[in-house]
Amino acid sequence: MLDLTYEAPTPKVIAGATSDWELVIGLEVHAQVATKAKLFSGASTQFGAEPNSNVAFVDAGMPGMLPVINEGCVAQAVKTGLGLNAQINLVSAFDRKNYFYPDLPQGYQISQLYHPIVGEGEVLVEMGNGQARKVRIERIHLEQDAGKSIHDMDPHMSFVDLNRTGVALMEIVSRPDIRGPEEAAAYVLKLRQILRYLGTCDGNMQNGNLRADVNVSVCRPGDYEKYQATQDFSHLGTRCEIKNMNSMRFIQMAIDYEARRQIALIEDGKEVVQETRLYDPDKNETRSMRSKEEAHDYRYFPDPDLLPLEIEQAWVDDIKAALPELPDQKKARFIKDFGLSDYDASVLTAEVVNAEYFEKVAEGRDGKLAANWVINELFGRLKKEDHSIEDSPVSAAQLGELIGLIKAGDISGKIAKDVFEICYTTGRNPAEIVETEGMKQVTDTGAIEAAVDEIIAANPAQVEKAQANPKLVGWFVGQVMKATGGKANPAAVNQIVSAKLGI
Ligand code: ADP
Ligand code: MG
Repeated sequence: MLDLTYEAPTPKVIAGATSDWELVIGLEVHAQVATKAKLFSGASTQFGAEPNSNVAFVDAGMPGMLPVINEGCVAQAVKTGLGLNAQINLVSAFDRKNYFYPDLPQGYQISQLYHPIVGEGEVLVEMGNGQARKVRIERIHLEQDAGKSIHDMDPHMSFVDLNRTGVALMEIVSRPDIRGPEEAAAYVLKLRQILRYLGTCDGNMQNGNLRADVNVSVCRPGDYEKYQATQDFSHLGTRCEIKNMNSMRFIQMAIDYEARRQIALIEDGKEVVQETRLYDPDKNETRSMRSKEEAHDYRYFPDPDLLPLEIEQAWVDDIKAALPELPDQKKARFIKDFGLSDYDASVLTAEVVNAEYFEKVAEGRDGKLAANWVINELFGRLKKEDHSIEDSPVSAAQLGELIGLIKAGDISGKIAKDVFEICYTTGRNPAEIVETEGMKQVTDTGAIEAAVDEIIAANPAQVEKAQANPKLVGWFVGQVMKATGGKANPAAVNQIVSAKLGI
């Protein structure tokens, strides 16, 4: 079983001039809901479409248009909540967050400030060293995405693309339970993995379908424990929020930079100002976007066009009953049922398609051997050509067949690699390849004995040496393997050689 301690791993500590400093991080992750249509319109959410081709009148803020909630988006948010062990709120409500921007034609974003659809939950983040931390989820709310402004420099022109306007987002807000850059990345990765297992967000960070606002503060050793004991934020330092991060690497670099900037300020006798900052990867620094004083007054109020959202417990129960097996459960099952190491189980369950492929290969066979072949041979080979498992030329059934041949002693592991390569490039089945190409391992002792006799007779000097130094038996085994084109069963060869040499 997984040996997970819920003890907090040591937080990242940065030594300052006057004190050690610890990092405190809370993330607001915006995950685009995987659905065909937008949150309040029937327009398509397809990525990369012709600009302004996926826009309904309501998305364009046309007067007199009314939003109509997309039940599919609500179901996805509920599913996500259940996957994060969270409380599902049977009554939630939509609010308007008012601001002006060219890519927001309504003049407001519909969000859920006061009554989110999902309440408290948790994500278990493993740090790859047997340690894990439970990161608490504060809430998940549904909201609309904004459009995209595109600025051209030559000539100076700005464009607005409303395809994204009104697409459903889930904002997943964590408590400030994350204690370092690596942990922040591990948290986003785990969240992404769970969402992908659930099928509620495709997790494509490059396309901006998963992005994070990263809140960072620093405190002196001991202060975080005081916060945890009381949940009183005054024990923590002032935070800055780094907006819109969509790369794991940049998230880590931005946190590190930001923490050091704050420490330098405090140690210089200055104060950290609560503000929104942007990370510039070219310069590896964060820069102020707007301070708290300049913060927008969004004039939140309940959206009068939308009734409170009421869902039924029975509907939630149905969604719960249909939840897929999630990464932690699958990993634990792989370790238990197939005898895999923690590491192999993690690799194989990182993506659900990989896990499903592996399971087909391993079913009823040697699980460890199957894991080795999938991870080392197949993944290695696929990576070479930038293939993914979905377009693997070797099917799970074929790889399973190959492993069956190894296990039955029909081929050695070495020959199996050749069979694999033929199967990969031609699509032929392993058993047929072995048969047709005469690659079957020779276990017939008569044939092996004949080969051994020949080599012994031809190399009297080596025989003498080997009899004085039994380690040299390996040389004879190598010669026999060569003579049989690698097809002799190495264990049998070893035994026969030793016997014939009288060792
Ligand atoms: P706001 O309403 O201004 O967005 P929230 O209280 O909702 O503020 O917090 C937003 C995010 O900031 C949450 O993820 C929370 O965990 C995180 N956060 C709050 N205080 C701190 C802090 N002192 N240091 C780091 N992160 C924090
Ligand atoms: Mg916020």
